[in-house]
Amino acid sequence: MGHVLQATEYAPDARWLGMDASRRMNELAALAFMLLGLVGAAAIMGRAIWLREALVVIVIGIALASWASWGLVLAGEEANLLRRLPVVTALLLLLLCLGWMSAVPTTGLTRIAVADSLGGAFARRLILPALLLPVLITFSLAMGQSRLGLSQSLLYALTAALTGGVITSMIVWVAFLLDRSERLRRTGAAARTEADTDGLTRLANRRVLDGALGRIWRDGEDAQLAVLMLDLDNFKSFNDSFGHQAGDEVLRETAGLLRAAVRPGDLVARYGGEEFVILLPGADAAAARRVGQRVLEAFRANAWPRRPVTISIGAAVRQPGDTPDSLLQRADAALYRSKQDGRDRFTADGPA
Ligand code: GH3
Ligand code: MG
Ligand code: MG
Repeated sequence: MGHVLQATEYAPDARWLGMDASRRMNELAALAFMLLGLVGAAAIMGRAIWLREALVVIVIGIALASWASWGLVLAGEEANLLRRLPVVTALLLLLLCLGWMSAVPTTGLTRIAVADSLGGAFARRLILPALLLPVLITFSLAMGQSRLGLSQSLLYALTAALTGGVITSMIVWVAFLLDRSERLRRTGAAARTEADTDGLTRLANRRVLDGALGRIWRDGEDAQLAVLMLDLDNFKSFNDSFGHQAGDEVLRETAGLLRAAVRPGDLVARYGGEEFVILLPGADAAAARRVGQRVLEAFRANAWPRRPVTISIGAAVRQPGDTPDSLLQRADAALYRSKQDGRDRFTADGPA
């Protein structure tokens, strides 16, 4: 090894690279690498996530400080901090941090950075400005001092104004992103409600019924459940006599009567044309019969504008070994018996 650079002999390139004449690693860099080692240990052990994240943040902070002083170098100033921690070392630290963080991509900051969520969107959009800001701020302040000859107190004021401005614009940006995502969410929710609702009666549709049955079956075998299958009586003749519009009115009125007959946890769905299904979670045969009778009474008591409308009902209670289909089939069979026996009545599944 021949010539050793003296501090006074810094070539301009060597200066911003932060080469030090003493050729030993400075304390700040050593500390950062030591912390990185701990980050790696925590990542390998897969433990102490929050400690790991905190260490990562400290290392990134050290790298950013060197990065910020690069702004001074760009403006032609001396950068004391840079001499202590070269910008190349800072870049290396940042890359190593990213490396350790992607070693366990399903946790902490890394998970957020790649997440398909609002937090992920913020992280991805704000990370670049956050990394560039230190350089920009130090650069513009240094330029203000050297080129424009701004006084110390004016520079302090500028620093404060810049910091405040940056924070304000970040808040505005986040607010803007939040607002837009909230509006998208609401549109999505409205579309979902629309897709779940029968257009004529505003009751849940078959899709919702199938989903609810699927959930109940997934939740386990033991929960009690009763279903009612309901069908308007002689509805074809009603349509023929009073027209389809009047028929639609009856369907809407029916929806109101059914909804009024059940409790909030029950589900009333339009199953098809003039057929409806009511799910009664937690109900036994007696409870199902009570609801059925309540519906029949409500139809009889209702002031129908054209002619009295009645409904027939079949009920089944979930048995061990039932599937959603077999349960609905037994309720349908019971409904068929109600029709056979003269309509406007309730029949429970089981031996007659
Ligand atoms: P039953 O007592 O045996 O059930 O006799 P029904 O006439 O009610 O049964 P059927 O299945 O023969 O007729 C059902 C009728 O329901 C036929 C159809 O015109 C009517 N319908 C189905 N969907 C709608 C609808 O959305 N609006 C109107 N107005 N009528 C409908
Ligand atoms: Mg029918
Ligand atoms: Mg009918």
